[in-house]
Amino acid sequence: MTIPVLDFGYVELVEAWGSDERIIEAARMSTQKGFEGWGPKEDGSPGDEKLLRYLWKNGHATPFEMAGMIIEVQAPIFVVREWQRHRAQGFSEMSARYAPLPDDNYIPTIARLMLGGGHLTKQAAGTGAELTESLAVRFRTQLDLQYQKAEELYQNALSAGVPKELARACLPVGRYTRMRSTSNLRMWLDFLRQRLDKHAQWEIRQYAEVVSGLVREHFPRTWELFAEGVGND
Ligand SMILES: Cc1cc2nc3c(=O)[nH]c(=O)nc-3n(C[C@H](O)[C@H](O)[C@H](O)COP(=O)(O)OP(=O)(O)OC[C@H]3O[C@@H](n4cnc5c(N)ncnc54)[C@H](O)[C@@H]3O)c2cc1C
Repeated sequence: MTIPVLDFGYVELVEAWGSDERIIEAARMSTQKGFEGWGPKEDGSPGDEKLLRYLWKNGHATPFEMAGMIIEVQAPIFVVREWQRHRAQGFSEMSARYAPLPDDNYIPTIARLMLGGGHLTKQAAGTGAELTESLAVRFRTQLDLQYQKAEELYQNALSAGVPKELARACLPVGRYTRMRSTSNLRMWLDFLRQRLDKHAQWEIRQYAEVVSGLVREHFPRTWELFAEGVGND
């Protein structure tokens, strides 16, 4: 099931593997006791949530590599550039060397434009100019025109026989691209720690919100610890 993000983007879970229980099993390799169960035991002692909490809180991160997800993402090139900075992932991206990129381009909404650059607003403005709604409307129109021009040049170049790998040189970073990303839960949580943060760019945060929903669904107990901020204090 694809979950829409921005105007033409999406996130789709291809596969999730492992579980909160697998993390416990990995942590108990030395004693071979495996997973013993959630919730208080018959003798009143705490269940395996205590061990999970201990692992997370004390940075015993390796057992969290025993679970993970493959995710398909369609996002503007500039979002994918940020995403791919997280090196502990494997990627496979649609290559514009072999097939032309679809003509989908990101146009921020007026509301998004009016949000500014988050904590960077002042620096980004530089001139001290403040964006008004009418200037935001104008920017959207000009951006759309620019995308149309780029597409025209791209298509003309392809028709003229310019190799796809060079015709793509005219495509802007707002163009959508598509990739699959695979990694373990440890990496996904690190990705979320950085990309759900208010300092991350708004666009990648929208993707991170969807990824966080997938983590919550498939690894609920680990998610709970992450969301509580246990270990980050
Ligand atoms: C708000 C924000 C602003 C940013 N601004 C910029 C910017 O202006 N310019 C810019 O270039 N980047 C910027 N980045 C990207 C940032 O610098 C990191 O590259 C990115 O967040 C990935 O983090 P990471 O290296 O911890 O993750 P990963 O690459 O996934 O690495 C995870 C962990 O693995 C280990 N690791 C991975 N590779 C190595 C290695 N080669 N050697 C040693 N340890 C390794 C480290 O412990 C690392 O923390 C920004 C990121 C954020 C969230």
